[in-house]
Amino acid sequence: METLLKLEEVTHVYVGDQGASLAVENLSLSIGRGEFVSLVGPSGCGKTTILSLLAGLLTPTKGTVYALGEPVRRPSPKLGYMLQQDYLFPWRTILENAQIGLELNGIKTPAATAHVRQLLHELGLGGTEQRMPYELSGGMRQRAALVRTLATEPDVLLLDEPFSALDMHIKLQLEDLVHTTLEARGKTAVLVTHDLAEAAAMSDRVVVLAPNPGRIQAIYEMPKALRELPPTEARKQPEFQGVFEQLWEALESGEAEGGEA
Ligand code: ADP
Ligand code: MG
Repeated sequence: METLLKLEEVTHVYVGDQGASLAVENLSLSIGRGEFVSLVGPSGCGKTTILSLLAGLLTPTKGTVYALGEPVRRPSPKLGYMLQQDYLFPWRTILENAQIGLELNGIKTPAATAHVRQLLHELGLGGTEQRMPYELSGGMRQRAALVRTLATEPDVLLLDEPFSALDMHIKLQLEDLVHTTLEARGKTAVLVTHDLAEAAAMSDRVVVLAPNPGRIQAIYEMPKALRELPPTEARKQPEFQGVFEQLWEALESGEAEGGEA
């Protein structure tokens, strides 16, 4: 499998008024094209830092980050970012919001707009093009944010807890929708979540991080039978519970070993 993302012995230190804080230490990880990888771990273990490094929003203090075969130096439209908060502009319609990335990159052609309309339709937002964000539910807004992220046709989606602010029922629906949408398009995805079941249900591989400083505690390859199913179906399989327990144990032992934070 072609490697699409790579962190090579990456260390990141935040320097601020309060002094220096070691967020991620000597972390190496490779992600292949088309893979869906989740990063799980307790709050503060460096998940968002790792996504920001992959996205080119931060430069590592030590080590190198590669994306699509090149060192990452700045944000690129090939790497789409989706956050817990949808950050839709309240004064723009859904269609206008979905096209922001196209405008910023100077690629808002009629064909690109047609593609965005098609995406809105596919993700169940047909008819909302001229609506304002406040008129939509939380789940619909997150779907609009997903369309905006997909609009520039990124190879990689970086997802930072995109479901965590949603009700359970909507969250499960959206997990399925994101899973099938990304799989159908052969996208590579890195999902940050503190929800182990979500990670297990959605991913090909789950990376369990330990805190203080952020580092890899364990990496689990999900069983093939679970990987092929939509998340809501994977959760119902008999082997799902065993996978969940393994992840839980890794997470617990990582926290127990953690430094004196
Ligand atoms: P997570 O997403 O897993 O909750 P983060 O990557 O946000 O973790 O944070 C990792 C560590 O780095 C934490 O100890 C956090 O306090 C620290 N940190 C994050 N952002 C900053 C920042 N901008 N300045 C200083 N410290 C930060
Ligand atoms: Mg975070």
